[in-house]
Amino acid sequence: MSAKKLIAANWKMNGSRALVEAVVQQLANLSTAVDVLICPPATLLPHFPVSRHYALGAQNLSEHNEGAFTGELSAGLIKETGASYVLVGHSERRQYYAETDQLVCRKVQQAVSSGLTPVLCIGETLTERQQENTEQVIAKQLAAVYASHPELLVKSVIAYEPVWAIGTGESATPEQAQATHAFIRRQLAQYDDAAAAKVKILYGGSVNAANCIALFAQADIDGALVGGASLKPSEFMQICQSAKD
Ligand code: PEP
Repeated sequence: MSAKKLIAANWKMNGSRALVEAVVQQLANLSTAVDVLICPPATLLPHFPVSRHYALGAQNLSEHNEGAFTGELSAGLIKETGASYVLVGHSERRQYYAETDQLVCRKVQQAVSSGLTPVLCIGETLTERQQENTEQVIAKQLAAVYASHPELLVKSVIAYEPVWAIGTGESATPEQAQATHAFIRRQLAQYDDAAAAKVKILYGGSVNAANCIALFAQADIDGALVGGASLKPSEFMQICQSAKD
């Protein structure tokens, strides 16, 4: 567990240059007691001025270095925009673009070897939770990356995002989220004990200014990955401020 929380914004395929300006303005007064990461569409990355108030990330990367991969973005191209993080294996990538655990693993490797910090997204579907398979699903998603590459853990951030909570307005309860975060940390300890104790585990899924306070009070919740509410500059700012120690 680490003291300073990380609040990450996933704009998905939303936003505009006007939103960049509005968010930059809001965050200008933010305390540095919280780390903020903005992941806008990649074309907007160069429009963010360099700032001590936030880091930047892409939402996806290619597993390849370069070459004939039309429409893809390499880690190198992402780094040239000034970004230092990248989301990997978001459930929308897994669901709509058929990203497998194996591909997700290659992308985490590619990110780390290129000097980008991967935010590995994991989480169960509603059916998997109803069938009481949450822990099994998460253990498999983690094992796919860290069982054979434990050295990647110390360079990673984990985002637990129950699929049933993403964009639905139905967040996991603080108790549900804490139980799963603690499970994630225990699972990771078998790959690298020291890294597991320190790795940031973010919660994602319908986080907003009202529900974030109870989530942030949980021992193993080190921040949030925020979708919809990150598109509202003042609400996102409120979430960031709630994450101060
Ligand atoms: C997300 O897509 O990563 C997410 C958490 O979205 P939302 O906050 O809108 O549920």
